[in-house]
Amino acid sequence: MAHVMAASELVTATIKRPFQNDDDNSSNGNGNADGKPKARRREADPAAALAAARHEFGEHGGVNMSIEASATFTVMEPDTMRRLFSGELGPERGDLYIYSRHFNPTVLALGRQMAALEGTEAAYCTASGMSAISSVLMQLVGAGGHVVASRCLYGGTHALLSRFLPRASGVRATFVDADDEAAVRAAVRPGETRVVYVETMSNPTLAVADIPMLARVAHDAGAKLVVDNTFTPMVVSPARLGADVVVHSVSKFISGGADIIAGAICGPASLVNAMMDLQEGALMLLGPTMNAKVAFELSERLPHLPLRMQEHSRRAAEYASRMRRLGLRVAYPGLPDHPHHARLLAIANPGYGAGGMLCVDMGTEDRANRLMHHLQNTTRFGLMAVSLGYYETLMSCSGSSTSSEMPPEDRARAGISPGLVRMSVGYNGTLEQRWAQFERALSLMQQQQQQHPDRDAAAKYCKV
Ligand SMILES: *Cc1c(COP(=O)(O)O)cnc(C)c1O
Repeated sequence: MAHVMAASELVTATIKRPFQNDDDNSSNGNGNADGKPKARRREADPAAALAAARHEFGEHGGVNMSIEASATFTVMEPDTMRRLFSGELGPERGDLYIYSRHFNPTVLALGRQMAALEGTEAAYCTASGMSAISSVLMQLVGAGGHVVASRCLYGGTHALLSRFLPRASGVRATFVDADDEAAVRAAVRPGETRVVYVETMSNPTLAVADIPMLARVAHDAGAKLVVDNTFTPMVVSPARLGADVVVHSVSKFISGGADIIAGAICGPASLVNAMMDLQEGALMLLGPTMNAKVAFELSERLPHLPLRMQEHSRRAAEYASRMRRLGLRVAYPGLPDHPHHARLLAIANPGYGAGGMLCVDMGTEDRANRLMHHLQNTTRFGLMAVSLGYYETLMSCSGSSTSSEMPPEDRARAGISPGLVRMSVGYNGTLEQRWAQFERALSLMQQQQQQHPDRDAAAKYCKV
């Protein structure tokens, strides 16, 4: 029976694709072999775009798609194999597959959802955010190529660009203040710079990138703008603002469960095709493949990503303004006095707020650790853990954890103070219940400080 299914591809295609759109042929994870992007209707709102994407039904008419848990795929005729390898047949040309490191139907279906979310022609899902980032950089930059990157980046990406890629492939990276157009223009070398790389909202300082400006600067020099949108899915759509490629750590908000490590590369079909090339493609040859069972789990979470992001944002905004009223030094791009507030308003998708991340600067690492200790162990406001996008609030002291890879002087230049507590604001429990827990932890910490004014130098609770 399986052989019949594989051979009668046109029949299965109609059964599996009852909502097939006009634009459907071009928008899939692997796009067109002729490299010409076909016109695609693009919804401006990412939730609308997600809902407009093709709905996959299960093999037996299930409302959810089936999981294609096969590493390899059969063909009815020997010649079909030759035609598959020559590219004449493939996922979009007859619904035929070769091997799941190449394309897998379930992973491809998640890729279509990711492409719809980010408004790109195609997307490919990977085993982690770092594998998405490293593969795309290796593909676009090549040996000896040059990258201009923001100084405020996730620690792993900073290490990749400053240490690993220079050692492994002679890539050179210049780190700049991505806010300073003149500095970015001065750093970009036409003909040499292949990629300008930023995060929409930087980790952990929450600086918002001026994506339209950076796209102009990159394109003027013939470079691609690659944007890590991990902190702001739904909130900002970088590709709709001019970015060429959007990368994600799907492990964070998109997953939402703090149980899966995954990544995605969203961009033109020509890029995904090139990355899948049997001879030269970074995805095909490095092989950071997503498991089909993981792809299925994630595809069930994408439909409620808009709702989750709205609630993460609503609570973060409320806490940020209440913390501010208590006199804390809080950074949240949704607060009107944040230096990038107006910029975020100008580029954000309406209705999703300013995101679920906020930072409180407690001055010293010791004070940061004491606050987090009470927040977790005394009042149960949240959990001391890295990562983000979970339903519980997660807190970490960035300088001694996720950004500890950075040399201290780079940390200082990136604005990461030793007492900076980064919070990914969760949405379980009621807002008032959670806020009372926060206030109680803060006052306990302040009371103890009054009792032991010399304690600032002692007591290390940081788990790292
Ligand atoms: C976590 C994270 C990454 C790395 O993603 P993994 O899924 O952990 O490999 C990259 N960029 C940002 C902004 C992140 O927060």
